[in-house]
Formats: sequence, structure tokens, C-alpha cells
Amino acid sequence: MSRGLGPACRKCRREGIKLMLKGVRCQTAKCPMEREARNKPPGMHVHRRGTRSEYGVRLREKQKVKRYYGVTERQFRLLFGEAERSNENTGLALLQLLERRLDNVMLKSGLAPSRKWARQAISHGHVYLAGRKMDRSGYLVRSGDKITVSPREKSAAYLRAGIELAGGSRSQPVAWLETDMNKLETVVTGMPSRDDVQIPVEEHLIVEFCSR
Ligand code: SF4
Repeated sequence: MSRGLGPACRKCRREGIKLMLKGVRCQTAKCPMEREARNKPPGMHVHRRGTRSEYGVRLREKQKVKRYYGVTERQFRLLFGEAERSNENTGLALLQLLERRLDNVMLKSGLAPSRKWARQAISHGHVYLAGRKMDRSGYLVRSGDKITVSPREKSAAYLRAGIELAGGSRSQPVAWLETDMNKLETVVTGMPSRDDVQIPVEEHLIVEFCSR
């Protein structure tokens, strides 16, 4: 299923890496990836699987990134097309486009404990961009964009609940975002770099997979 609505932890186990899909829970001992017995691919016959083909290796790299950013296959292909048309290295451009998604910006700025939470806040109209409601979590932010909370009282309460939930576990502040947690707003001051991608990725494998 392209939307990937299955159990989040199963995705991490499949990719063999912590994709941090459940916010705070991912940083606790409850994470299955922290337990030796559960830190293996899902399925009954996993021990029978042999070495991966070249195709399999490239497919997994693409799936890993797609699942990390929570995008559908269609959204991923559209972004890949945009990356291909850019003047930059395609792999790098793809990662930059994914980093610029509004739900990712909400997470990285600390205004949401997870991408899922951010997406819900955005689709419920709690997030404003340049003074107007923005309900598309896939919006690609640009330098100078200002993300604020809706003037409705319940919107601020919603975002504060998310921040409280994240507690001290918010991700490291990133250089291209300036966030004021008291005002619940973030200004995009630059563009993400390769170092801002927080999971190990070999983007050239994704480019090879998608260019077949
Ligand atoms: Fe689940 Fe751990 Fe992955 Fe978070 S990092 S989604 S808790 S397996």
C-alpha cells in the first residue's frame, strides 16, 4: 500500500534502522529496536532469506528514505522528478526537497514531536504560513518563510501539548531554522544541507533505482 499505513515499528525493523516514527517513544526502552529479541526484520521466515540482490539493496534504500519522511510513492516520484530537473546533484537535491517539507520543518524546529503529529496539526488548520492557513504538509518551504500558529486559542494549546509531549527529547536545533518556542513560530533562514539529513543514506543508490 503506497500510503504505508501499517505498524510504524515494523517499518523500522524492516529497514534495520530507527526511523523515529513515534516521537518520544522512539527514545525509550520500549522501542523494539532497543531489544535484541525484536531488532530483526518482521516475518516468520526471516532466517531463510539469503543475500540481497543489487535491485533489493537499492529498493531498500529508497523505501528507507520514503518511510522516514512519511511520503507516498507518488509524492516521492514527483520530488525525484523535480530533483532530476534541478541543476544540482540529483540525490542531494532529492534529500533537500524532502527536508523542506512543512511537516519535516515542524519536527526539526521542535514545534511537533513527530512528523505524524505535525501532519495532523497542519491538516487540522493549526499552522499558518506567512499569515495564512497552510493545510498541506507537503508544502516545500523557502528561505524567508515564517511558520506561525493559527490565532485560534485551541491551536496554540495543541502545539504546546505536542512540545510538552516531546519534553527534552526534541531533535537538535538546525542551522537553517530560527525558532521561537514562546511565540510558537519558526523562520526559514536558509536551505538544508546534506548534514541536516539525520539518517544514514546512500542517495546514489536511490538515484540508480529511480532512474532504471
Ligand atoms: Fe518504533 Fe523504535 Fe521505530 Fe520509533 S524508532 S517507530 S519506537 S521501532
